[in-house]
Amino acid sequence: MEGALKKIRSSGGRITKARRGLIRVFEEADKPLSVKEIRRSLGEIGVKTSMTTVYREINFMVKNGLVKEVNLYPEEKMYESAYLVHHHHLVCEKCGRVEGVGGCRLAEIEQEMYRKRGFRVTRHSLEFYGLCVECNQGVGLMT
Ligand SMILES: [Zn+2]
Ligand SMILES: [Zn+2]
Repeated sequence: MEGALKKIRSSGGRITKARRGLIRVFEEADKPLSVKEIRRSLGEIGVKTSMTTVYREINFMVKNGLVKEVNLYPEEKMYESAYLVHHHHLVCEKCGRVEGVGGCRLAEIEQEMYRKRGFRVTRHSLEFYGLCVECNQGVGLMT
């Protein structure tokens, strides 16, 4: 929270109730959120805002590096805190559950892109789509 507030101040932005609320919503979220979900979560902590305000404030936070866009679905943008450690997502296409997975192993591939093609990778985005453990009834689990 403090780091985020500092970032807003240093970019010349004001600390409004909506911004403070958004920071809290993103800190407490355990998965990427849609704009509708963000507005609902804001309401739950007593911050009443219009959709327009939510869109505007999210754009502000994306521009200032506090929040990141996550492209899980072509029809709806999702957002998550930019302070999370690097991770990918597992998206269940049956129940819609979204889980974060860490332990990225793409560094080697990125180095190869540089060595073989001269392409310097600065970031990547990779999401996995399929069936979650419950929808798949635990098949394939090694326990
Ligand atoms: Zn599922
Ligand atoms: Zn990665």
